[in-house]
Amino acid sequence: QYQGLAGRSTNEVLQLYSAHGQQQKLQRSSVVTQLHGAIKKRLKQDLKSLHSFALELSKDFQRQSKTYLYQVLTAVQGIQLQNEAMQMFQMKAFDLEQSLQEVTERYEKEKQKRRALHNNLVELRGNIRVHCRIRPLLPFDTAAGHLMSQDRQRSFSEKVAYATDDETVLVKCSRPGHASINKTFQFERVYNASESQDTVFADVAPLLTSLLDGYNVCIMAYGQTGSGKTYTMLGPQIEENFAFEDESELGIIPRATQEVFRLISEKPPGSYWVEVSVVEVYNNEIFDLLAKDSCGKVFGVKRDVVTTREGKSDVPWLTHETVENASDFLHLVNKGLQLRVRHPTLVHAHSSRSHLVVTLTITTVVSGDNFGTSWEDEQTSQRLNKEVSCTFPQKERDSKSTSSSRASSPAQLEATEKMKQVKTRLQLVDLAGSECVGMSGVTGAALRETSFINRSLSALADVLGAIAEQRSHVPYRNSKLTHLLQDSVGGDAKLLVMLCISPHQKYLTESMQSLGFGTRARQVQRGQVKKKNFPVPSKAK
Ligand code: ADP
Ligand code: MG
Repeated sequence: QYQGLAGRSTNEVLQLYSAHGQQQKLQRSSVVTQLHGAIKKRLKQDLKSLHSFALELSKDFQRQSKTYLYQVLTAVQGIQLQNEAMQMFQMKAFDLEQSLQEVTERYEKEKQKRRALHNNLVELRGNIRVHCRIRPLLPFDTAAGHLMSQDRQRSFSEKVAYATDDETVLVKCSRPGHASINKTFQFERVYNASESQDTVFADVAPLLTSLLDGYNVCIMAYGQTGSGKTYTMLGPQIEENFAFEDESELGIIPRATQEVFRLISEKPPGSYWVEVSVVEVYNNEIFDLLAKDSCGKVFGVKRDVVTTREGKSDVPWLTHETVENASDFLHLVNKGLQLRVRHPTLVHAHSSRSHLVVTLTITTVVSGDNFGTSWEDEQTSQRLNKEVSCTFPQKERDSKSTSSSRASSPAQLEATEKMKQVKTRLQLVDLAGSECVGMSGVTGAALRETSFINRSLSALADVLGAIAEQRSHVPYRNSKLTHLLQDSVGGDAKLLVMLCISPHQKYLTESMQSLGFGTRARQVQRGQVKKKNFPVPSKAK
């Protein structure tokens, strides 16, 4: 081209040059147009694919949201169903609860009915009622005893006696090297360690109503030393005294007295009066704990027990103090108890080494007109008339007054000879504990005591055995204890034995012995318990 330009004029060159520029411009604009077109096309395509992508995305989104919505709905429905099911379950649980309550109530009613029937049966057969109380584990159960090696002690650190329900005791009997065996015992009532003095007394209280209805009643605590007999019968001991201030801790004896006076307060005034005697049987001797010397100071006097012509046991010259209320009684009993022989053993420091018999004699005054109108048994009526006329004449009562306060009966009685008396007796017995000599670590005089205690308790078991087998001879006189309790044990009293059990493994042998005693006592049938004949109360006439 440059060669072609040679020889051309400047103008021509310029023209050529501009024509070339224009041609180039033209060429450039056509490229731009082409490029523009391509870009536009490309953009359109991109937009289209973007659009279809967005469409796809939204469709996908819709699809997914539908799935999620469905899932949420299913979940909500599931929750609703679960809620309904829950409500159904709640309703069912409520229904079950209600029917359980009904069944429990029915069961309780049936149990009460069964108890009442059982009570009637007990009464008809003259069975001895046996209740069993398992005391809690106490610090002295695990305290190191002198006679026990540490190893032996470690293996003996378990509770083995349990109340499985209110009528059953379970004892786990295990000996080293032997598989443990569970033994169960049934009684009229079983109290676990947490049951209070209140609960125990509540079951005893109906017997006291019987007392005023004309039955003799005897409540007797049996068990090894430290098993809770004195606690159950009297209450907790503080040093030598009984803590009679704490009402909730009172035992059967003070509560029974309160109840007797409460029942009497509902009767016409002057129709009943109460006398108390406190007797201790120690080393097979009977001591009158209310006897007084010439200065009126209480001191224990030895007495004897005899059998009267009617075949009843009696303690001549025994002090009977008239008491007007429960606090008089407690004061008197506390004074008597100061004399009770105690000897600390290793088992526990305040173990009583004697049997204690507190007797409340309730005399009912019946006017001659009422007397005999509704007597069930004519013969008994005649016998009682005789009994009464023997003790009633003024002269005889005066002659007794020197040593017995039985003469201090209320004045109303002296007013008329037409009045008659019916006596019923509540005997409350805190037996001394049976014990294994090795365990309590006693020697000398205390050992002698122990052998007397064990002998008197086996005499009691023998008496029960003889009655159970209906032998013609019952060996009451083998021991002063059984002779003294003859009328209650073999006679016409409603008798309740309160077995006391220490739950600790180390007392297993004694506990089994006590449970065996209770089981045998339950089997004794003495014939129907007799009611002393009473007149119908005047309102019933
Ligand atoms: P026992 O008269 O049988 O020898 P105690 O009645 O003196 O035995 O009881 C021994 C100890 O155990 C006493 O310290 C008593 O307070 C306590 N104890 C007995 N039974 C219970 C009980 N149910 N709850 C609390 N302490 C008790
Ligand atoms: Mg005691």
